[in-house]
Amino acid sequence: MLQVSITNQKQWEKMLATKGLTVVDVYQKWCGPCKPIVKHLRKVKNELGDVLLHFATAEADSIEDLKMFRGKCIPTFLFYADGMLVGVLQRANPPLLQRTIVKQLAKEKQSLNEGGQHKPVRIVQLQRLKYVPAGKSYTVAIIKPDAVSHRKTNEIIMKIQESGFEILAHKKHTLTEAEARRFYQHKAEEPCFQDLVQFMSSGHCHILVLSHTDSSVNVLPAWLEFMGPTDVSEARRAKPECLRAQYGTETLHNAVHGSEDSNHASRELAFFFPNFRVEQDGEEERVERTLALIRPGLARENRGAEILAQIHKSGFTVSLQREVMLTEEQVRLLYFKYVNEDYFPALLQSMTSGPVAAMVLAGKEAVHHWKNIIGPSDLDKAKAENPDLGAQFPVENEPISHIHGSENQEAAEREISFFFPKQNTLAVIKHEAMEQHRETILEEIRDRGFSVTQQKEMVPSRELAEELYKEHKEKPFFNQLVDYMCQGPCLMLVLTKENAVEEWRVMMGPSDPAKAKETSPESLRARFGSDILQNSVHGSSNVQHAEEEIQLIFGDISTEEELIRVPQENPRMHENMQPEQ
Ligand code: GDP
Ligand code: MG
Repeated sequence: MLQVSITNQKQWEKMLATKGLTVVDVYQKWCGPCKPIVKHLRKVKNELGDVLLHFATAEADSIEDLKMFRGKCIPTFLFYADGMLVGVLQRANPPLLQRTIVKQLAKEKQSLNEGGQHKPVRIVQLQRLKYVPAGKSYTVAIIKPDAVSHRKTNEIIMKIQESGFEILAHKKHTLTEAEARRFYQHKAEEPCFQDLVQFMSSGHCHILVLSHTDSSVNVLPAWLEFMGPTDVSEARRAKPECLRAQYGTETLHNAVHGSEDSNHASRELAFFFPNFRVEQDGEEERVERTLALIRPGLARENRGAEILAQIHKSGFTVSLQREVMLTEEQVRLLYFKYVNEDYFPALLQSMTSGPVAAMVLAGKEAVHHWKNIIGPSDLDKAKAENPDLGAQFPVENEPISHIHGSENQEAAEREISFFFPKQNTLAVIKHEAMEQHRETILEEIRDRGFSVTQQKEMVPSRELAEELYKEHKEKPFFNQLVDYMCQGPCLMLVLTKENAVEEWRVMMGPSDPAKAKETSPESLRARFGSDILQNSVHGSSNVQHAEEEIQLIFGDISTEEELIRVPQENPRMHENMQPEQ
């Protein structure tokens, strides 16, 4: 038996008395321990062959220490070193679990060498992502009451994750009859409708929002395929490896559900997760961003002001702006299409002869609009067509427009991230603001274009609060500040955006809410803070602090980055950074 089974307090205490590292799979009575993971654990054990490594399964329902894990069927592994909790891993895929075991075991050995000092961890409940990342497709999947009552939930979830699906949200829910009827309203005319409603409301379901780790995969058909045909006997015949073939028993009791198409997915998402948002501001606004570049020749001629005036007149907002000296290599990437042209050496020379002005323009359909305004990059063509912006500002002897615009939205985002690399900052919603203002603050954060790339709720320990505010160690209010920070659960966030550190500080406003009310009444602290101590939010003061603070809060459980995944594109300039033809 690889795993020791723990179902009562006595067995639990025995585990705590075990020397070495014990990896505990916490499960809910109604779904049972996770079977598919066992083969991975066995593999790790065989590879490491370590006498200090133990495995156990523990029933959350019957162990007092596991109270906080009750009721949620999130695959959870706890790492105990000599009876002390040293790590928590939730919703991990097998490779991640494997890496974590290797790492924790190494730490355990090191601590044995150093006299058995363990660093205990505070249990952190990972917040679920409350949005579908931009550019990703999503579907709503249900593990139906038949599979749940057969205790197949964990197994199915493990398979889902192993197959490259990503669980963005997960909840256990028992549908009322009325809900089931509403959910299946489009099937109301079908003969099976009443049975379906009965069945779906007969026990717990697990409702999942899924996307795919590979954002080029459309998760809707992928999930339908993974489930297999509606009819279980057909599924067994045609696709024995699909979920329905394995877990279904008849057409009605077919174990899983998936959204039929994106319209259904959107309806079903709203049905089960009304607060869940799909990133990308939908149809209402469609504010887009594009990158504009003004080459050195033009910048040198001091015609920047004229061009800016044109930009404003055309209805754009300049949301970011900077001057950059490009290296030769960057120019080659930027204009790789022209490297073999006769005029390339001249182009290269001119591009590196001084600073390029880079701007992010925001506005309705910005990409298209800006391209129309600057016209074709071939100046002869541009002049012939009409006197648009590009043609108005020719630079001697160069046949290519001195103004650049991104080719399409995707290129725009890549180019923007090249010229304006994203920053991370630590934001904290302090405990006194949590109950009343948390949702508003989160909403405003997203409305301002930040991505929340990490988040967790925690009551900071004293040591953590002291470390977070170490720059104020000598200040008279230090103790009071630390005491106050430990008084309740705070929401820790990593916000990601270009210029995030400064922008978040602007959004917070001055430290003292009284001052904030005077100088920036729209700021968060002006609206939600009550005094200088209870000022609702924290933000890193500079880029270096941001790095340190993020490391402090999120760095310890290094695996978390992988739990909360956010698509972050590499600036692959050479593919997209081409001047228009
Ligand atoms: P922040 O970066 O704007 O949060 O401000 P600081 O880094 O200067 O201070 C950190 C935190 O300490 C602030 O957010 C306040 O909650 C608190 N704080 C700052 N100054 C005072 C003060 O004079 N008295 C008290 N009681 N708290 C202060
Ligand atoms: Mg500060």
